[in-house]
Amino acid sequence: MKAHVVVIGGGLAGITAAIALGQAGADVTLLEARPRLGGATCSFHRDGLIVDTGQHIFLGCCSAYRGLLAALGMTEHASLQDRFDVTVLAPGGPAPRRARLRRTALPGPLHMLPALARYPFLSWAERAQVSRPALAMRLLDPADPAADTQRFGDWLAARGQSERARRALWDLFSVSALNIAGDDASLALAATVVKTGLLGKNNAADIGVPSLPLGELHGDAAATLLAKLGAQVSLGAKVTSIDSAIGWGDGFLVRLAQGGEIAADAVVLAVPHEKAAPLIPPDTLPDATVRGWAGLGASPIVNVHVIYDRPVTDLPFAAAIDSPVQWVFDRTRISGISASKHGGHRQYLAISLSAADEYADVPAARLREQFVPALAELFPAARDAQVTEFFVTRERRATFRQTPGSGALRPKAATQRPGLVLAGAWTDTGWPDTMESAVRSGLAAAVELRKTVLTSTMGVRQ
Ligand SMILES: Cc1cc2nc3c(=O)[nH]c(=O)nc-3n(C[C@H](O)[C@H](O)[C@H](O)COP(=O)(O)OP(=O)(O)OC[C@H]3O[C@@H](n4cnc5c(N)ncnc54)[C@H](O)[C@@H]3O)c2cc1C
Repeated sequence: MKAHVVVIGGGLAGITAAIALGQAGADVTLLEARPRLGGATCSFHRDGLIVDTGQHIFLGCCSAYRGLLAALGMTEHASLQDRFDVTVLAPGGPAPRRARLRRTALPGPLHMLPALARYPFLSWAERAQVSRPALAMRLLDPADPAADTQRFGDWLAARGQSERARRALWDLFSVSALNIAGDDASLALAATVVKTGLLGKNNAADIGVPSLPLGELHGDAAATLLAKLGAQVSLGAKVTSIDSAIGWGDGFLVRLAQGGEIAADAVVLAVPHEKAAPLIPPDTLPDATVRGWAGLGASPIVNVHVIYDRPVTDLPFAAAIDSPVQWVFDRTRISGISASKHGGHRQYLAISLSAADEYADVPAARLREQFVPALAELFPAARDAQVTEFFVTRERRATFRQTPGSGALRPKAATQRPGLVLAGAWTDTGWPDTMESAVRSGLAAAVELRKTVLTSTMGVRQ
C-alpha cells in the first residue's frame, strides 16, 4: 500500500514537497487554505490587468528554484539575463544620473571589478575600499553561529564601508534580498547572498525576471503537474489541527476548518511560522522552540503600481539610489495591458519597496504624492506623461525579519515526531526567506520523510 502524505500549505515549499513526494511514489494530498496555489507568489485580476501582488526576481545561483521551474515546464518563462546587468539611477536635475553595473566574462569574483571600479556614485576612495569586505567575506562561514549575532552594517563599517558606500552600493543587493534595512540584516544571511551571488561563479548573480504572471508560472503549472502525478489538491482547505491517529507512530489525523478529517501516514507542515506554531502537536518540538518562532517576526514589502498614458522608459527594470524608489520594473507586457481596454501605448511600472515598514500603513493617496514625483525625477519622460492609474499592494508579512539572532530560531525539517516534518522559506535552509529557500525547504522535507517513515515497506519507491 502506498504511504499517504498530507502536505499543508500550497506555497512554493508545499508545492515542491508535494511534487517530490508524488514523484517518489507517495499518495499525496495537498491542502491549501486559499482558493489558489502559489502562496506568497500570486497574481490577481484588476480592471483588465493581471497584477502580481509583489514583483519577484531570482538569481542564477537559485539552483533549487530553477529546478522547480524546470519541473513545471516554466524555464523559458523566467529566463536569466545573459550577464548580470543593472542600471542604477539617481535624481540629478534635468537628467538623472545613471550607472550601469554589468559583469564581465571574467571568472568570479573578478567579474564585477571593472563595473565597481567605474561606479560613479562612490568616490575613488570608497571604490578602492569595496574589495576589503569582499575579501573578508570569502573567509566568513555563514553557518557559523557567531555570524548570526552580528549586524551586516556594523561588519561593513568595520571594514571601511562608509555610510555612503553602504547606502549607494551594498543596500542595492542586501535590502531587496533580505527585506530588512541594510545595516540591520543578519551578517550570516547577508554573507550567504554575497558569497553565493556576488563572489561565486560569474553567472551566479545574473538576474531572472518572470515573463508570466506568478499565478500562471507557479500556481497553475503546479496544479497541472500535481494532477499528472495523481496528487489530490484541495483548495479552500484550511487546517485547524494535526492530531495523533491513535498513538505514537500510528500516523496523523488532519482536521479541516470546514469539518472533516484526513488520515495520513506522514505530514509536511509548509505554512508560515505564525501559522505553524498553533498547529504543531504537543511533543513534536520543545515548547521553547515553538514559542521562539514568534521572534522571527515579519517584515513588509509594498509594491506601488503606476500606469502612464505613454512609455516613460525603455529599461526592463532599474535600481535607484538617493530616491524613495528602490527597484522599479516595467510590467507593461506581462500585465496584458496592451490587450486590455487600457490599450495601446501605455506603460505600467511597479516600484518594489522592501523593508517597507514606513510605507505599510500609508494611504495610497499619500504614496502617490511621494512616488509619482520620485519616478519623474528618475525618468524625465514621465514629467510630461499622465498617470492613468495608481494603486498599491501591501504584503505586511512578506518575510520574517532577517535580523541578527533569527538564524538560531529557524527549525530544521525534522521534528521529534517521525512522520511530521516542517517546510517553508522561514525554516533553516541557510538561505534568506526567498523562493530558493522555500523550494529547498520542500525538498529537505521530502528527503527527511523518504529516509524515515516512507520506507519501501510503505510502498514508496526508493
Ligand atoms: C511582495 C513579495 C515580494 C517578494 N519578492 C521576492 C523575490 O523577488 N525573490 C524571492 O526569491 N522571494 C521573494 N519573496 C519571498 C517569497 O515569495 C517567499 O519566500 C516564498 O514564496 C515563501 O514560500 P512558502 O511556501 O514558504 O510560504 P507561503 O508562500 O507563505 O505559503 C504558505 C501557504 O500556506 C497556506 N496556509 C497557511 N495556513 C494554512 C492552513 N492552516 N491550512 C492550509 N493552508 C495554510 C497559505 O495560504 C500559503 O499559501 C517575496 C515575497 C513577497 C510577499
